Amino acid sequence: MGLNATKTLKWEQSRIKEQEISKYLKAGRDFIDDSKIESILKRNKTQDKKIISDIISKSLTIQTLTMDESAYLLNIEDKDLLVMMEDAALKVKKKVYDNRIVTFAPLYMSNMCVNDCLYCGFRKSNLSAQRRLLGREEVVKETEVLAGSIGHKRLIAVYGEHYLTDTDYIEETLRAIYSVKVKTKNGFGAIRRVNINAAPLAIADLKRLHNAGIGTYQVFQETYHHATYASVHPQDTIKGDYRWRLYSMHRAMEAGVDDVGLGVLFGLYDWKFDVMGLVAHTRDLEEKFKIGAHTISFPRLEPAENTPFTENPMYKVSDDDFKKLITVIRLAVPHTGMIITARENSKIRTEAIRLGITQTDASTRIGVGSYSDNYSDQDGSRQQFYLGDTRSLDEVIRELAGMGYITSFCTAGYRCGRTGENIMRLLRTGEEGKFCKLNAVLTFREWLDDFATEETRKVSEPLLSREINDIKHQMPGIYEEFERYYHRIKNGERDLYF
Ligand code: SAM
Ligand code: SF4
Repeated sequence: MGLNATKTLKWEQSRIKEQEISKYLKAGRDFIDDSKIESILKRNKTQDKKIISDIISKSLTIQTLTMDESAYLLNIEDKDLLVMMEDAALKVKKKVYDNRIVTFAPLYMSNMCVNDCLYCGFRKSNLSAQRRLLGREEVVKETEVLAGSIGHKRLIAVYGEHYLTDTDYIEETLRAIYSVKVKTKNGFGAIRRVNINAAPLAIADLKRLHNAGIGTYQVFQETYHHATYASVHPQDTIKGDYRWRLYSMHRAMEAGVDDVGLGVLFGLYDWKFDVMGLVAHTRDLEEKFKIGAHTISFPRLEPAENTPFTENPMYKVSDDDFKKLITVIRLAVPHTGMIITARENSKIRTEAIRLGITQTDASTRIGVGSYSDNYSDQDGSRQQFYLGDTRSLDEVIRELAGMGYITSFCTAGYRCGRTGENIMRLLRTGEEGKFCKLNAVLTFREWLDDFATEETRKVSEPLLSREINDIKHQMPGIYEEFERYYHRIKNGERDLYF
């Protein structure tokens, strides 16, 4: 065995800390009981209007639904009940998040990976992938494009699992991103919140990342179904350990990272089962730490270069079922942010936004180094999968503004300690909405002045005026202070927030 292979193997063997799994188990079992989920799904079927409207009423008071209640919603087939459920999802979204959408961009740091997930273009056995890892200067260059030319304020940094991209590397790249400040038309651009999507980590590593200023820590379980999980993640890889992954968010909470992002890769197993898994996961976190998921993501399996598994997935989720699962998640975990990404085409993304999505990416490139390289927006050998929507941030914002949605670049929450349990309480009571509305207007003003095309400005200014008018009438006590901030931003100051 060569030096590198020995080093990799040693590193791999040191990753999983058994005591950081076993401490969470109950009588040796994890909280996903496959046969119990199957039987709840089988048992809770009704098209009775009274039962369904009682469940929906509970969602409207912003309470997490039980597993039984979630199953009832998943099993709805009646067209009228479906419409009723969609209307309620929109009401929940409006109550918690009003008409705000948060945007972000993914930044792929590296496609080097020791795992071999059957569905992923970065898997180690994919010899047609061109491997690359961004150095500090390259991360700075990518960030300059994202913050200085496009106008993003929020990123999700994405990492494979490899000894070259361990916690030291994640810390170093976070520091590189936060160090960038670029002159823009009327002020300056900078990334103010970096979320990460990375492999499961140990508590000590998560503490380091917390200190380095990560926003949300995302780890998708991919599928909660034990046997399916084992069949797509080879057992001799780190990712093959279902429970090491399942408890990554428990460890994050212990490390002080209390904004955690759950997700399922839809298409691996039955979508109803996996929505139940997401609800079970949120409920377990709420029970143990009083904090549920900050966000939930629901990617659907996309084709990837030289990745036959993605060609004909057995559990492919249709557009109708996809919309239904979004609606149910919105109702089952009403306070949780919901993310749709550019994996989906623009039509589905637009429809999904109406069902309760709160965050979306734009101007997305997922090849490693592809923002500053300026290479074509789709190159299979460099990216994990193919994208469905490559529209620019300006185009997405214009469309959203036309629909009456204001794009928020607010990142104030976590910088003012509004995270975890605090944010959950503020979201449930509708209090958070006040800060968010003020900050959404301030950050949207910044973006329009620095980055918008004339066409986008035209659609957005009337929306902004309406929002300002709302603030004047709904929050008279704070309006004067808000107005002062607003004018300072118009004069080129940046990053003022409540
Ligand atoms: N390597 C880390 C891991 O697997 O946890 C994080 C990064 S991975 C690049 C991010 C997510 O991309 C995965 O969790 C998976 O859900 C998703 N993904 C992988 N292959 C995909 C595909 N072919 N289509 C859509 N999403 C995919
Ligand atoms: Fe590696 Fe993540 Fe891709 Fe699996 S999904 S091969 S862990 S990058």
